[in-house]
Amino acid sequence: MVILKDNILIGILGGGQLAMMMVEMSAKLKHIEFIVVDPSDSPPASKVANCIKSEFDNKEVLDKLINECSMVTIDFENVPAETLKYLEKKIPVYPGSYAVSICQDRLKEKNLFNKSNVPTTPYEKVDSLEQLENAVNIIGRDSILKSRTLGYDGKNQQFIGENKLDEIWNISGRKSSILEKKVNFKTEVSLIGINTHDGEKIFYPLVENFHNNGILNYSIAPYKNETLQKKAESFYINISNSLNYVGVLVIEFFIDSNDNLIANEMAPRVHNSGHWTNEGANINQFEAHISAISGKKVNEIKLSENSAMINILSKMPKNILSYDKSIKVYDYGKKERMNRKIGHLSFISKDRKTLLKKVESIKKIIF
Ligand code: AMP
Repeated sequence: MVILKDNILIGILGGGQLAMMMVEMSAKLKHIEFIVVDPSDSPPASKVANCIKSEFDNKEVLDKLINECSMVTIDFENVPAETLKYLEKKIPVYPGSYAVSICQDRLKEKNLFNKSNVPTTPYEKVDSLEQLENAVNIIGRDSILKSRTLGYDGKNQQFIGENKLDEIWNISGRKSSILEKKVNFKTEVSLIGINTHDGEKIFYPLVENFHNNGILNYSIAPYKNETLQKKAESFYINISNSLNYVGVLVIEFFIDSNDNLIANEMAPRVHNSGHWTNEGANINQFEAHISAISGKKVNEIKLSENSAMINILSKMPKNILSYDKSIKVYDYGKKERMNRKIGHLSFISKDRKTLLKKVESIKKIIF
């Protein structure tokens, strides 16, 4: 357990919208300040916290964090594991390098799921064209080649189908990959959980996620299914215990036509599918993460309404506020770019049907 001194400084590696919301949404926690490290000019978090412009392997900057911060956390999982290892020799880092190194590599992640008795779709390791041919013989052509590292939002993924394997292998950049069987899923959900220093796990209800081209478009919470909630929580406990995890960890699942949960991937951080918690829960995921890592008590999660979160991709719509004042608009202040997440919309409703109707009309405006 971390003992809270007055005014602790938390270092955040990565200054994107997740870091920005970690700072903003945990503002009511007393005695916590933040310093952010990010290599880009004016990342979103620089609007709300001191930001050092630096690569993540700059020893001078890391030593400054060691000297000034009580602990370090991350806003994206591709911070070099070496950086986390360097820091964690001197100060607590949540999540630690071990957990992050597993989440950075799809093969290690899927192996860990299986070791933890959590079902996954069949997969094979692929490091060469020959291995790709063998993997396709085993798994079949209804499968996806995914790079082991640096794949997110559907990036670095190729569907096999009727395509020629040598062409797919070249297009993929001949990277270390896995071939995984496509899941014929009914829907997708994620489980956002909070891991305290005492080993307690506190869960949000499952949230249902809707993707297009591998990118999350919108989420609806809660996904009410007591059996699946319990099953997902038991899977989650196996996984987070084996990672010795402290803070927010998110696991994404497919639900197949027989109502089986199949783990897809996990994120060692707050997550896009948890943004609804800002409006829809008594404790938002950002405050929960900061509370958990800094040793503050995290209360039971309670929801009073249904929530929707819709991502704003590529371009900021101009007319959303005039459309409906009850919609909270988040603008991350990022440059518009094709398929880039530049903001999100969030709203709640006591009545699920009303909420879903509103989601449908907004989808027409922004997608
Ligand atoms: P990922 O980058 O693995 O999270 O994939 C992004 C999205 O692509 C998922 O949320 C799914 O919608 C889709 N997807 C990824 N892997 C599979 C799979 N094995 N079967 C079916 N859909 C998939």
